[in-house]
Amino acid sequence: MAEINTAVYDVIVVGAGGAGLRAAIEAHAAGAKTAVICKSLLGKAHTVMAEGGIAAALGNVWKEDNWKIHFRDTMRGGKLLGNWRMAQLHAQEAPDRVLELEEWGALFDRTKDGLILQRDFGGHRYARLAHVGDRTGLEMIRTLQDHAVAQGIDVFMECTVRHLLTDGGRVAGAIGYWRQSGALVLFRAKAVVLATGGVGKAWKVTSNSWEYTGDGMAMALEAGADLIDMEMTQFHPTGMIWPPSVRGLLVTEGVRGDGGTLRNASGERFMFKYIPAFFRGDTADNEAEADRWYEDKRNNRRTPDLLPRDEVARAINTEVKAGRGTEHGGVFLDIATRRPADYIKRRLPSMYHQFKELADVDITKEQMEIGPTLHYIMGGIRVDPDTAAATVPGLYAAGEVAAGMHGANRLGGNSLSDLLVFGRRAGQAAAEYAKGATAGRIDDAQADAFAKRLTEPFERQGDENPYAIHEELQNAMQDLVGIIRRREELEEALAHLERLRARVARVHVTGTRRYNPGWHLALDLENLIGISEVVARSALMRTESRGGHTREDFPKADPEWGMKNVVSRRRDGRLVLSTEPIPQPPADLRELIGEDKPQEKVATGEPAIIGGKE
Ligand SMILES: Cc1cc2nc3c(=O)[nH]c(=O)nc-3n(C[C@H](O)[C@H](O)[C@H](O)COP(=O)(O)OP(=O)(O)OC[C@H]3O[C@@H](n4cnc5c(N)ncnc54)[C@H](O)[C@@H]3O)c2cc1C
Repeated sequence: MAEINTAVYDVIVVGAGGAGLRAAIEAHAAGAKTAVICKSLLGKAHTVMAEGGIAAALGNVWKEDNWKIHFRDTMRGGKLLGNWRMAQLHAQEAPDRVLELEEWGALFDRTKDGLILQRDFGGHRYARLAHVGDRTGLEMIRTLQDHAVAQGIDVFMECTVRHLLTDGGRVAGAIGYWRQSGALVLFRAKAVVLATGGVGKAWKVTSNSWEYTGDGMAMALEAGADLIDMEMTQFHPTGMIWPPSVRGLLVTEGVRGDGGTLRNASGERFMFKYIPAFFRGDTADNEAEADRWYEDKRNNRRTPDLLPRDEVARAINTEVKAGRGTEHGGVFLDIATRRPADYIKRRLPSMYHQFKELADVDITKEQMEIGPTLHYIMGGIRVDPDTAAATVPGLYAAGEVAAGMHGANRLGGNSLSDLLVFGRRAGQAAAEYAKGATAGRIDDAQADAFAKRLTEPFERQGDENPYAIHEELQNAMQDLVGIIRRREELEEALAHLERLRARVARVHVTGTRRYNPGWHLALDLENLIGISEVVARSALMRTESRGGHTREDFPKADPEWGMKNVVSRRRDGRLVLSTEPIPQPPADLRELIGEDKPQEKVATGEPAIIGGKE
């Protein structure tokens, strides 16, 4: 312990994406001594990669839009599994959060009248996404970062937090390491906000980058917090598929929002075949009507190319499996037919350059070849809707690491608004909690044990290579816990994960602790495998198909399951899964959601211990 540098704060925020920065700004403004810690450079987070926009019912393009319709779209898009209170707060507060960003210096694209321009995205009734071309995340992170730094908030970058420290069941701080020097660092804090993003790097084909290894979820689980609905993973329908080196890279939904259409290898607009009953009243069912929609959106029906992401990803998967896919196993996305070159270059400059430079495809003249890519996880840390508090005192979570807001499927644009709304709420509540709390005691034995685990890969015997294990994990998750799931395959995945876990225990890292990526990956693998197990076990437990979770052996949505969260927690060193009833919306909000609303019946479930001892 003596050799570990210690920093002391009221509130530490782990993660410097949109959620983390917004939380830190709010905690600092509330008077808490606050630090932000991030494992990459400040500014390099998923948020900066966001392309299409921030969903908020500003009503700038369609006066008819309001929070109630946004709430309805979010609940229906999430297949009614979302937490109604989170969806309500999100829809009500998103416009103010966008305007606040503008006040802090964000420059959005404008309407002719000088208002913030809004674009169409899947599942949204009205054009609702405030955007900056297809580089919205860059503007958002620039604005938040400038604001946070100007307020004097301390930033620890290239610093990975690895374990939460607890004192009698509440959070007392965290321990991690500097990526460059390898030195360990201990944070003493009254409250911790986790804003570490998702776990995309567990899959082979993903839009996510190297940082997304499920750290926040793994730390929360280890500290005793609940995770919910971890089976709900989002495969974005449009990722690049060729050349292989860029497979998975995102092709923004903005391409379809701005006029792009999907076609199979025979040129068929196949999405008309896949309109689910749930959305039939909202969706154009023939090409002429869909074309009218693009040109005059007042006809009040959407094109099936812009159905929610889970529907479109499954449809593409079906077309490819039926032999109607392209040469490299995808389908075509075409915007050149409908839009002129100068429009495409102005509205989608990053997409134009991405395809030109990486695939030698000119999207103003040629079709793009695309296929589904693992993009987002709807499941995550269970939080209180109003305060973003996790189920462990002193612990808060916001952004992609948290769950509830998006139910079984997230609508495009609803993540950036989620970060702002719940990042702010988390920062506010964490500061409030810190004000009334004394600092927790740092348990030296616990800190020593974590410090030992951090350096263990250098001490171990064995010849396993962390990179080889990571590749096998990604293949297993891609093949066995992918878009379409089956009991046998999920069980095979779990057996595979057990074998990989045993092999991680034989990873021996050579060299020093000074910038040693092999060591970092050896530590990340424990989180990746641990969270992959929770995903696979949750997927095995939910015996229905809903949103991002499709079971070939249970192809229909089951109304009973539509009333339940799958809850995962650690108790006595074991992973325990159970189901718990989802809070039901009050009558007025149920009315807004409309038909197919959840039934009154409340589901119950016996906890089942299904994890092995650690
Ligand atoms: C290519 C792409 C385009 C997208 N486009 C859109 C869009 O247009 N609209 C939309 O709504 N959503 C979009 N999304 C989704 C959205 O960007 C993400 O869901 C969102 O940015 C997540 O934000 P966050 O603040 O939760 O985490 P991130 O922005 O992912 O930030 C996580 C932070 O945590 C840090 N971190 C992680 N682990 C640790 C650790 N152990 N210790 C210390 N720090 C750690 C990281 O370094 C980083 O700073 C897109 C996603 C991608 C990948």
